[in-house]
Amino acid sequence: MRGLMMDRPLLISQIIEYAASNFPDQEVVSRTVEGELHRYTYRDAARRSRQLAHALQKLGVQKTDRVATVAWNTYRHLEIYYATSGIGAICHTINPRLPADQFTYIVNHAEDQYLFVDLTFVPLLEKLQDHLKGLKGVVIMTDRAHMPETGMSNVHCYEDLIADEPTEFQWPEFDEHTASSLCYTSGTTGNPKGVLYSHRSTVLHSFFVLSVPGLTMDEESAMLPVVPMFHVNAWGVPYFGPMVGAKLVFPGPRLDGESLEELMNSEGVTDAWGVPTVWLGLLKHMRDAGKRFKSLKHVLIGGSAAPRAMLKEFKETYNVEGLQGWGMTEMSPIGTVSLVRPGDQGRSAEEQLDIKCKQGRAVFGVEMKIVDADGNRLPHDGDAFGELLVRGPAILSGYYENPEANAKAFDDEGWFRTGDVAKIDPEGYMEIVDRTKDVIKSGGEWISSIDLENAAVGHPEIAEAAVIAAAHPKWDERPLLVCVRVEGASVDKDGVLEYLSEHVAKWWLPDDVVFVEELPHSATGKLQKARLREDFKDYTLP
Ligand code: ADP
Repeated sequence: MRGLMMDRPLLISQIIEYAASNFPDQEVVSRTVEGELHRYTYRDAARRSRQLAHALQKLGVQKTDRVATVAWNTYRHLEIYYATSGIGAICHTINPRLPADQFTYIVNHAEDQYLFVDLTFVPLLEKLQDHLKGLKGVVIMTDRAHMPETGMSNVHCYEDLIADEPTEFQWPEFDEHTASSLCYTSGTTGNPKGVLYSHRSTVLHSFFVLSVPGLTMDEESAMLPVVPMFHVNAWGVPYFGPMVGAKLVFPGPRLDGESLEELMNSEGVTDAWGVPTVWLGLLKHMRDAGKRFKSLKHVLIGGSAAPRAMLKEFKETYNVEGLQGWGMTEMSPIGTVSLVRPGDQGRSAEEQLDIKCKQGRAVFGVEMKIVDADGNRLPHDGDAFGELLVRGPAILSGYYENPEANAKAFDDEGWFRTGDVAKIDPEGYMEIVDRTKDVIKSGGEWISSIDLENAAVGHPEIAEAAVIAAAHPKWDERPLLVCVRVEGASVDKDGVLEYLSEHVAKWWLPDDVVFVEELPHSATGKLQKARLREDFKDYTLP
């Protein structure tokens, strides 16, 4: 028997209209690309989104058409989010830092018809426009006074485009499963893959995040998404913020520590969201300039592991709760959040940090399982670790137009393979142990490269360490430790192995230790294991 409740769709346009009706005077503040601080209200945001909806329809944008953005976090970007999805088109946010070939690939793969671009990125677009095949026009996100000279064709000025449009608009109603936005995730190999969100998944993801225990978000909150709106919809902040009437504070192009601190303190920011690198910059500035936070309560740290020292400094020096979040573009993105439960708040500071260093408990709507190499489920005992798979209504069911990637992305039961290797403890806390491509598969058992590296750098004479798999005739793979000595140090292989044997299981001990002058790093400072594997491809174990 079906329930007798109304079948009303969950649509993104409802969020901005709800905010405008219920929190009309709540502020949205943006640092703009032009320089000044812009402030308006949800009433204004809804009004201008409606004007943009009219303008898009006049340009000929139809349901399911892709409209791209290459832009910072600002109020205009917010309007584009709501206007494009609101009319049933798809808001395709693009990361401007992508290499040119990948940028071109995704615009063409998505078949973007219009592209909204911030002033900063006009030169980038000018270089690439000839390669962007289906593009009908470009909208520069500024006013007449700031319009740049450009040789691009079919260029519009954002403010001119919407200026004369009516401020009322009847948002269309359609199936909640309709696609709403598109974000490509760049793998380490191959072309980026498109994750196509729906109205339903976006609204549900917002509810899921709002239900995280202890993360009280309401009209009293002022949220600063430092995570870019071109990166998984700024983790959903532009959707769930308006739902609860929170003030939104957009940092625009200025993401350095000093700019963030100024904005946080002048706008009363309570909740800030971003990746560890951003917070490293902020904390350094706070230290160097001797500043304090006036209103900050929560910092959500995600995208890669939150360093223990960072969680500690936020708490002990600034009384700010640092929360680790784990997720993926494919998961809308938030999967888990690490919060210390009320029952654990009596524990010592170090024990509480141990809890926060785990990736956390699943948010409602996310189911997790860990499996061994044959796909058999492993117990959630905090000890066993295996590949982590997830499912839920805000998790992708397939990459956009990419059968090749889809063939590998799911198991037989339809769960999504995260590519992470994790443990889950009996209380539900998940802890990432490694990536599936980095873990050492030794005779059917897995060895965590990360755990071995952490153990190795505990040696006072080792500055940096990387563990990769080396081919082995009997065990398939065995760990090879590649490390950099501290300057002037002379530790040798036996010394390292002796030290490690006190810290890891005997069968985890690396089969060889190689010393190098330096390890390969990416532009953002991440260890590049793929390159290291390439460097050692002809290596054979002794
Ligand atoms: P994002 O684009 O949000 O960084 P990606 O989809 O590119 O997300 O990458 C997701 C991957 O980033 C995860 O599978 C995981 O390996 C890593 N990751 C994200 N958050 C964390 C975290 N808190 N701790 C450790 N790894 C994380």
